[in-house]
Amino acid sequence: MSFNRRDILRAGLGAASAAIADRVFVSQVEAAEAPLGYTLPKLPYAFNALEPHVDAKTMEIHHDKHHAAYVDKLNEALAKHPELKKKDPVTLIREIAEVPEDIRQAVVNNGGGHVNHSLFWQMMKPKGGGNPTGEVAKAIDASFGSFKDFQTQFADAAMKRFGSGWAWLVVGDNGKLEIVSTANQDSPLMTGEGKMPILGLDVWEHAYYLKHQNKRADYVTSWWNVVNWDFVNDQLSKAKS
Ligand code: MN
Repeated sequence: MSFNRRDILRAGLGAASAAIADRVFVSQVEAAEAPLGYTLPKLPYAFNALEPHVDAKTMEIHHDKHHAAYVDKLNEALAKHPELKKKDPVTLIREIAEVPEDIRQAVVNNGGGHVNHSLFWQMMKPKGGGNPTGEVAKAIDASFGSFKDFQTQFADAAMKRFGSGWAWLVVGDNGKLEIVSTANQDSPLMTGEGKMPILGLDVWEHAYYLKHQNKRADYVTSWWNVVNWDFVNDQLSKAKS
């Protein structure tokens, strides 16, 4: 396949033709690219499900526009090296050093964006928050002293990230929990140090600007109310197995 929807639109077709082309595009995608392309995962809940802590409009734009764009640009970058599309997205970015240099930064940005957001949606849930449960609760106490101390240090990492990036709770290869922060869409999975993210907070302005404007601290405070500790526990047990 040698064209995409943008090419068709660029070719100056009218709306009706573009709609037909769109159907052609979809059927060709299904036929030719779906097995090897990366796809936008569905949100596991409605856009408004995290209200009032995270607003519906932010969730809609964040998922349908921002995350979708990372997926599209990742597929575009990999068009030059389609064999890489056989890797699941986590393996692709964990093995980032094996990605050819001509597309590596594009895969860091967009593959990182795809994996980070795919995790982020699952790290939140309606009626989430509260105190951590299970093994994560014990591991947080062991590593940080208390949940409150952990929250303080995690929020600090989120606040001190200058510009765009993420705060993470990771399991190191020694099995210990650590707080790290990454710039842009870099993932702890890319460091080659065996770090596994189990909780992450997106501090790009696109994650909070509509509701909180420049007040990142208010967003961080609200976000604790939607943390999905069940998922964090699942990630912890995967990291340890
Ligand atoms: Mn984001």
